Amino acid sequence: MRYSQLFLPTGREIPSDAEVVSHQLMIRAGMIRKLTSGVYSYLPLGYRVIQKVENIIREEMNRAGAQEVYMPMVQPRELWEESGRWQHYGKELLRFRDRHERDCCLGPTHEEVITDLVRNEIRTYRQLPKNFYQIQTKFRDEIRPRFGVMRCREFGMKDAYSFDMNEAGVDESYRKMYDAYTRIFERCGLTFRAVEADTGSIGGSFSHEFMVIADTGEDALVFCTLCEYAANLEKAEIARPEKEDTSQGEHLPVEAVHTPGMKSIDEVCGFLNMKPEDIVKMIIYSADGVPVAVLVRGDVEINEVKVKNFLGCDLLEKADEEMIYRVTEAPRGYAGAVGINVKIIADYSLLGMSNFVTGANREDYHLINVNVGRDFAVETYADLRFVRDTDCCPRCKGALKFARGIEVGHVFKLGTKYSKTMKATYLDRNGQERFMEMGCYGIGIGRTVAAAIEQHYDENGIVWPVAIAPFQVIITPVNVNDHRIAEISETLYASLLHRGVDTLLDDRDERAGVKFKDADLIGIPLRVTVGQKSLVNGVLEVKMRKTGEVRKMPQEELEHMIVSFIHEGM
Ligand code: ATP
Ligand code: MG
Repeated sequence: MRYSQLFLPTGREIPSDAEVVSHQLMIRAGMIRKLTSGVYSYLPLGYRVIQKVENIIREEMNRAGAQEVYMPMVQPRELWEESGRWQHYGKELLRFRDRHERDCCLGPTHEEVITDLVRNEIRTYRQLPKNFYQIQTKFRDEIRPRFGVMRCREFGMKDAYSFDMNEAGVDESYRKMYDAYTRIFERCGLTFRAVEADTGSIGGSFSHEFMVIADTGEDALVFCTLCEYAANLEKAEIARPEKEDTSQGEHLPVEAVHTPGMKSIDEVCGFLNMKPEDIVKMIIYSADGVPVAVLVRGDVEINEVKVKNFLGCDLLEKADEEMIYRVTEAPRGYAGAVGINVKIIADYSLLGMSNFVTGANREDYHLINVNVGRDFAVETYADLRFVRDTDCCPRCKGALKFARGIEVGHVFKLGTKYSKTMKATYLDRNGQERFMEMGCYGIGIGRTVAAAIEQHYDENGIVWPVAIAPFQVIITPVNVNDHRIAEISETLYASLLHRGVDTLLDDRDERAGVKFKDADLIGIPLRVTVGQKSLVNGVLEVKMRKTGEVRKMPQEELEHMIVSFIHEGM
């Protein structure tokens, strides 16, 4: 490609609405432009990178035995009614009506469509297992699109869906996808970890997220420093403590104390001269409309993902003022478990607590010396809070380490969640009808590109890993008006193209300094400079974008060096 013909609007200004480096650099390097909130166009340079990532994904999916298909973006309401997600997916599902007044949505994911396709086409065990994938546009009406293409509303995703006869089959399909993902992200030049994750609105029994480690990541991750355990903070487990006894020591008489205006844990602690560890915090939730009281020790945080999974409900929300009043007969801030008549579940952190403080279900009052068993009953103890750095690994008791990550891929073992609700069955060897076992597997294409930039940049711009660089080499003639310089550049350009090297020839009539700055900004791994000296001794200068290392060599040698550099980088 000739730079003079390439549409590559680079810029020096940092765009004011771009908070993270990848977003800033994608705008400055002329890769993307915003159309409207969370909706972006890819310009030629950006789209080249997208295609490089897609090609790596295709190669690895094909290698793993998955077959490429292409499914529609517009999906009918009826299918989503069948899976139950028309009701439960929430506002991220963009719904609309066509001219015949039929309800439709734009696909945020394709479990319904693929399950429908497979249930109509696959009848017997002889046709299984199968794994179908596509690279296609998704729409999710995110509440807060941000960070450019990292969290946008319309984005490209590779999604794959596996169908197996039994659990051993789906485990094997899952493992193949897990291995394929590992290869894909390695080839893209990313530093990543697969962590145990919650299954969210996709559902299923088990899942891993592939996380690119970066300080700007939206997800908090937990790793064990001794064993292999790694999880999303949302999911990270806490082992049931050995200290089970809640009735230790003497139980003092309950007393109501006046705590005017004291609602938060800090306020109550300060006022009563106590520690958060002495207080039991109670939050009332609405679980599919039914009130449930959740208790944790005052110094830890409730993890709502754990609460939702524990209760097995579809919609978990903090109770509104009206529900709180209905349960406690008091305003928010004074709720406690004594005397209420709803399901009470408690986090393990309550085990071993005695004579603690709670709200009195009366405005401006708290109770002290409250004890489980004597004063109220807990239905179940469970792991309902966030892990902290003082906790230990749930597997081996090793110390934990925290990091932040960007979720670029997610693999789920779905089991029969969709095959049951949508009746995707097959006949087994004995002619018996069985539900298919499913898995689903997603990679965000644009987010992977943004995450790669988060890990590969410096003060001058992007530093692409070779495998996903928009061009592998940029040739920079320092002066295009010197016909001898231009001629050497053209010869090298033609020769590199002939060797299959993705080459950009900067044939613009610009100062060398401007060209160097642009080459650095757009992050091309190798820059070859053709200058006056090349005319004298036939030696060309090549600079590595990543290390800044400069080498000089004749053209023939340079071409070999470039070809081997590219292959090593793949
Ligand atoms: P998140 O938790 O970040 O909202 P998710 O868990 O909803 O993502 P999945 O349903 O697992 O996402 O989708 C598969 C992949 O699609 C994700 O791993 C991510 O790479 C990508 N992805 C999801 N949402 C977005 C988005 N709003 N913008 C860009 N990529 C996205
Ligand atoms: Mg996910």
